[in-house]
Amino acid sequence: MTESTDQKLSKDASSLSFKNTEVAFSSKSDSDLKKAKFLFKMLANKPMMVLGKYATNAVLALHLPVKGLIKATIFNQFCGGESIPECADTTKVLDQYGIGTILDYSVEGKDSEADFKAAFEELIRTVQTASGNEHIPFCVFKISGLESNSLLEKASLKKELSPNEKASFEKLKERVNHLCKLAHEANTPILIDAEESWIQPAIDDLAMEMIAKYNGEKPIVYNTLQMYRHDRLAHLKEAHEICKQKGVIYAIKVVRGAYMEKERERANERGYPSPIQPDKVSTDRDFDLAISYALDHIETIGLCCGTHNENSSMALAQEMVKRGIPISHPHIYFAQLYGMSDHISFNLSHAGYNVAKYVPYGPIKEVMPYLIRRAEENTSVAGQTGRELNLIISELKRRKLE
Ligand SMILES: Cc1cc2nc3c(=O)[nH]c(=O)nc-3n(C[C@H](O)[C@H](O)[C@H](O)COP(=O)(O)OP(=O)(O)OC[C@H]3O[C@@H](n4cnc5c(N)ncnc54)[C@H](O)[C@@H]3O)c2cc1C
Repeated sequence: MTESTDQKLSKDASSLSFKNTEVAFSSKSDSDLKKAKFLFKMLANKPMMVLGKYATNAVLALHLPVKGLIKATIFNQFCGGESIPECADTTKVLDQYGIGTILDYSVEGKDSEADFKAAFEELIRTVQTASGNEHIPFCVFKISGLESNSLLEKASLKKELSPNEKASFEKLKERVNHLCKLAHEANTPILIDAEESWIQPAIDDLAMEMIAKYNGEKPIVYNTLQMYRHDRLAHLKEAHEICKQKGVIYAIKVVRGAYMEKERERANERGYPSPIQPDKVSTDRDFDLAISYALDHIETIGLCCGTHNENSSMALAQEMVKRGIPISHPHIYFAQLYGMSDHISFNLSHAGYNVAKYVPYGPIKEVMPYLIRRAEENTSVAGQTGRELNLIISELKRRKLE
């Protein structure tokens, strides 16, 4: 970090504004900004994106030489590199602005024991890289990267497992325990991502077991709560109560949730009540209530607020000041994804708050599903691309480049 905690604390949080594009894009050169503008303009073009998605998959499958093009454009915007060493420059740049890196191994959709073992070994390397590295305040992993969805679903339904399945599940537990133990030894918190509701009970059980084991007075293992689920506020209070009884700190990443359409479709197809809130207002309400509950109990809860929502980020920042909570309180972090919402991350960090970015990485071909999701999100989510594009254009104008 370039500044001491004391220096950070002495800054005036009241000057915080997400409209400050000079701070937001301070790490970007003129040519970086122009490239970003070109990319976000492309992402805003829906027909082109649909075509691009299928064309990219096809050319990669045919081993056509498009890697360089992808790497120079969308990959560089949203990923740190193809490997941990390749992410070092990104980590360094973010650190210059007081922003931590969360190395996010973003290889998805794998389903064999060889893949799970390879992912496990890579995740060990992420924890080892974070160990003693103050620029990397968290590690992260997805349980579904270590075991098949079908077994996680069966375990979630508490169905009897066959001897083979039992052995696989034990191996998963050992791997999860190994990662959390390493994180504990490294004194680096580790986030467990939230996933689809039909595999989440197994994830919650594993996360709670690890929290009970490794969270003493410091939050080390964080579970994730998706507030688009109508049952998560109750879950938060119940899990916090359990942790209090055990005398350990509860720790959570609070997000809105990434799988809404998939969740609703499945519930509809199979005829069970959707676990998702009826509307966005309800999701927002529970998101706010979860943040507020965490602040009420901040001495016994570790909170990572994972959002690109300006209002949610500003509300938390202001509420901390209002309640007299130090703005660099070690139990409170803001987090965004690399390549998105720099106006939130950089301005929060500039004002003295704790901020980290998920920095996805992995071989280009393997992270394509992740990149396609980012592209779709930036194409379909109302306002997201427009917002990024407008901010970039404002900064280009401020620099007299437009
Ligand atoms: C650092 C970080 C970590 C993340 N980790 C995870 C994770 O572990 N698991 C995960 O699932 N997601 C994760 N996400 C993604 C997150 O859940 C959201 O999908 C994404 O951030 C968009 O929500 P928002 O709060 O940023 O913005 P907003 O634009 O305010 O919210 C959009 C979200 O609101 C909800 N929503 C939208 N419309 C409706 C509706 N009609 N009814 C009900 N709800 C609605 C959906 O969740 C949608 O994604 C993470 C995001 C970040 C930034």
